Parts: sequence; C-alpha cells; structure tokens
Amino acid sequence: MTDKTEKSDLMDKIVSLCKRRGFVFPGSEIYGGLANSWDYGPLGVELKNNIKNLWWKTFVHGRDDMQGIDAALIMNPKIWEASGHTTAGFADPMVDCKKCKKRFRSDHLPEDTKICPDCKGELTEPRMFNLMFRTFIGPVEDESALAYLRPETAQAMFVDFKNIIDTMHPKIPFGIAQMGRAFRNEITPGNFIFRTREFEQMEIEYFVREKDWQEFFEYWLDQMHQWMDLIGLSSDKIHHLEVPDGERAHYSKRTVDFEYDFPFGRKELYGIAYRADFDLKNHMEQSGVDLRYFDDMSGERFLPHVIEPTFGVDRTLLAVLSESYTEDEVNGEIRTYLKLPTIIAPYKVAVFPLLANKPQLVEKAREIYNDLKLEMRVAWDDGGNIGKRYRRQDEIGTPYCVTVDFDTIEKDDTVTVRDRDTLEQTRVRASELKNYLREKIK
Ligand code: ATP
Repeated sequence: MTDKTEKSDLMDKIVSLCKRRGFVFPGSEIYGGLANSWDYGPLGVELKNNIKNLWWKTFVHGRDDMQGIDAALIMNPKIWEASGHTTAGFADPMVDCKKCKKRFRSDHLPEDTKICPDCKGELTEPRMFNLMFRTFIGPVEDESALAYLRPETAQAMFVDFKNIIDTMHPKIPFGIAQMGRAFRNEITPGNFIFRTREFEQMEIEYFVREKDWQEFFEYWLDQMHQWMDLIGLSSDKIHHLEVPDGERAHYSKRTVDFEYDFPFGRKELYGIAYRADFDLKNHMEQSGVDLRYFDDMSGERFLPHVIEPTFGVDRTLLAVLSESYTEDEVNGEIRTYLKLPTIIAPYKVAVFPLLANKPQLVEKAREIYNDLKLEMRVAWDDGGNIGKRYRRQDEIGTPYCVTVDFDTIEKDDTVTVRDRDTLEQTRVRASELKNYLREKIK
C-alpha cells in the first residue's frame, strides 16, 4: 500500500469509528444529510467538552491575567463593517468548472491553474465570495434588518473591551478569552470536521504595549506549543508557517499558522496573529466611544496592541483523533484503540462485572461504579463477554477497565485493573481502587 492510500485509509477508519462508537454522526442523516454538517454524539460531546474545559482551565482559570466572556452570536452589523468583514477582507476567491460545474476556492488550487482538477474542464475567472451568513432580525426581511451570524468569536473581545476594563480593571498586559460557535459559508467544506460551515473556536485577544509585541508573540507561540503537547499532539507533526508579506491581512505585521500533518495532508490547525491596534482603533472610530486604556501608574492613555492566538475546536478533535488512532496485534487479531491522553478521554475508567447474570458480581461492581462516579467519568458495561467489552472501551479510548470477578467476592476483595496501552492487568484491593486510579489519572 502506498503512503497516500494508507493515509486516506486512516481517514476512512477514523470517520467509521466515529460513527460506530457515537463520536460524530453525519448531520441530518435521515434526510440525506446537509452539506457536510456533522453532529457530535454522546462520546464526541464528552471529548469536545473535555478539550474545551481543559483549554478554559489552562488559559483562563490557570492565569491571573485573563478574563473570560461569552458574547451574543448575532451582533450589531456595524461591528462587521468596522472589522472589515463585510468587504472583500472576508471573501474567498471562487471558481467554477464550466464542464462538471464543480466549485473550488482558487487559492486552494495550484497557482495559475485554469483547468478543473477533477475533469480538466475550463474554469471561470475567480469571483470574490463573502463568507458571512446573512440573516434578518424581526419580521421584515429588508436591508435595515440585515444581520450576520458571527464568522469568528474574536470581535466581541474588542467590542466588550471597555466593559472589561471598567468592571475588572485589568493591568496591561492582559487578555480576553472566549469560546463558541462561528459560522462561515465555506465554498468547499470537507475533510470530515476539518472544514465545516459552523464550527467552534477558542480565541484569545492579548493586549500589550506596542513596544512589547514581539516578546509576547514569542511567548504565545510557546504557550500554544505547550497546549498541543498537553493534548498529546506530537511535535514532529506540527509545523510553523510564517505567513509571508502580501498574504497576511494588511494590519498584521506577523502571522504564524500552526500546520498539522492530518491524514489528508499538512493543513492549518491553529493560528497566531499580531493585529496591532487595528480592531480597537476601528471600533473607536466607528462607534465614537473612547476605547483607550488608562495606565494609572504613568498617567498615559493609549490604544493597546493585540496578539491573537486562535484555536479551532473541531480541528483539535480531528488532530487528537488522528494522533491517537492506533492498531496493534493482540493474539493474532488486530486491536483498534484510541490512545487518548487520560485528561481528555471521554471516560477515565470502565467497570465490568465478570458475568452479568451473577447478582453478587453485579452488586459489587455497581457499588464500585457508583463510588467512582462521584469523582470521575465512569462507564458501565455488562454486555457480551469481557473481550468484547475491552474492545469497545479500547475503541473509545478508556484508559482503564476494572473487572469484578469471583476472587473479588470470594477471596481477597481485589479487582483487576487493565491498562489500555500496555494491556497489563494488576490486582488492586477494592478499598484502594479509588486512590490507585486517582494517582493514575492525575
Ligand atoms: P482556513 O485558511 O483553513 O480557511 P483561516 O485561516 O480562515 O482557515 P482563521 O480565520 O484563522 O482560519 O480561524 C481560526 C481557526 O478557526 C483556524 O485555525 C481553524 O482552527 C478554525 N477554523 C476556521 N475555519 C474553519 C472551518 N470552516 N471549519 C472548522 N474550523 C475552522
């Protein structure tokens, strides 16, 4: 098998596992789906929430210089004028094939390509297509009621800037963080949850004095690497792309894309941009509200500059799934498992009674399950034989499985703890199990 087929094969396997085990389903499936939309199922929402909670804990709770917000999705349309989103600034170049009618983003095709990569038909000239979803507020659908679904979470941090400084009195440097949905009418969504029309972002606007921007740019590059390490992405799959002059947004003096080796190729996972004072300045001009920061030590009043680290939630999930999907051979059979870092695994542990029809085993296992549940996310499984249960838990990335067997109730009150990655089985006293797992999970 060539490397390429292996990789596309891997993508198919991930998509199929996600469906089979309740991570991600095709959106609106019983109606034939809807244009590359996806729904997170019971396991997917756990993994996603764990990632988001960890991010919040790391970048908001774990720091003294960060304020969190959760702003409205539909904001005053003037915001998108001030930010440049309603103009060509937020449009992608679109081309159509005159023969097969397929549509492409011309900046995703090799330079100067005038022919369709699929059927070799002739392509139209590129037209700019604005990515913002339009909607109307109230019952009358005219231009005065026009509004947009936000295409990024970021602008709210600038619009709420004054409220944050007036209420929380942060000292520069400080950041404002938000996570939530964003919408973009992408020309070519695809590659599973990599590019969709509604997705989630986790973003930070970090406000600094202009003279300090380079120092904080480097600092946030490093923080982003630490985050990727925390969620288990290997550094050899992560690449910096310095976005060159001419390709950066005009206000940005430096932008770095973090690219990741996804199964379908090297693509943008995250980004970090130095946006200078572009946003605050424009919002100050357009709104007429003074957005300058007042430094009571020096008596200066000025517009801070900003570093923007931005993280896509869905691309994080895809990277984590690609990284953790593993196959090995156990007793001559292929075993599939997700080697998820414990910190983000949907379940930390699963509890099984060896036999589902022995009340004594079930009762003891239930007791353990209920007790562990008070402290960690635990799965219960008594369906099929133990081998099947291990396979199920392996596929959803549960790091530890606890089995209650006859020794537990008849002999020494110990249970078996099986490790997903090493397959090692250890006998642990039931009374010490919680401590044992607590240590492991830490
Ligand atoms: P791309 O070049 O892939 O279209 P972008 O440079 O437009 O991405 P940004 O505007 O920098 O992306 O958005 C910040 C982050 O949001 C991206 O790094 C990515 O993780 C995520 N993201 C952007 N667009 C999408 C999308 N359509 N689907 C899923 N995630 C997305």
